[in-house]
Amino acid sequence: MHTTPRLVAFDLDDTLAPSKSPMDPRMADLLVDLLGVAEVCIISGGQIAQFTAQVIERLPQADAATLERLHLMPTCGTQYYRHELGEWQRQYAEELTDDERGRALAAVEAAARALGYWEAETWGPILEDRGSQVTFSALGQAAPVHAKAEWDPTNEKKNTLRDAVQLELPDLEVRSGGSTSVDITRRGIDKAFGMRRLVEVSGIGLGEMLFVGDRLDEDGNDYPVKRLGVSCIAVEGWEDTLDVIEGILARAAGAAESVA
Ligand SMILES: [Mg+2]
Repeated sequence: MHTTPRLVAFDLDDTLAPSKSPMDPRMADLLVDLLGVAEVCIISGGQIAQFTAQVIERLPQADAATLERLHLMPTCGTQYYRHELGEWQRQYAEELTDDERGRALAAVEAAARALGYWEAETWGPILEDRGSQVTFSALGQAAPVHAKAEWDPTNEKKNTLRDAVQLELPDLEVRSGGSTSVDITRRGIDKAFGMRRLVEVSGIGLGEMLFVGDRLDEDGNDYPVKRLGVSCIAVEGWEDTLDVIEGILARAAGAAESVA
């Protein structure tokens, strides 16, 4: 992309910040600089609490006009937040119905118990109702990384559980999520869904956007954005993203100079 994109969208984990961890102060400063030349969106499968802890609480002091250019899309854009009147406000949430949610919670618990995956020793609740998504976390939401890594290193348990739950919920989508988790959503909810919603709410076309993510490979959760036809830059970790943003800022400065 030779001109400055009107909007730059980022994945969160391993693109802006280490997985489930706060972003580096250098990233925070660069994001605010970037908001000076483009609108910015952050889109992730995680929930708003993660955005708050990893990004929002790390941003340096910025004026209201700057923050209004930041679009937050937790749970793949089934929820959408903007900064208005001095605070972050949810603009919409596309939630599961009570019936869908109830069936999802019941089906995943029954299948996990039947398969012997319902663990006795956990760190926090196994089931989480995220409104637009029901999540099963085998060891609880707050399990330490080493325990999570040991639970299902080959993905066999998650895939077995996913298949069993999917059979019970043909109208919903069941996906293997993080290291110990299985997510249940409406069908067709991925980052491409979120990017299409972003076009509607921002009025900016896909052709004027740039997406940056660490999982743009065909099995990755960023791949649907690439398949949608958005210009994409693949990074291998958040440190790469520092260079990507610096490049955009340098080109924007160069363009401003040649106009002046
Ligand atoms: Mg990622």
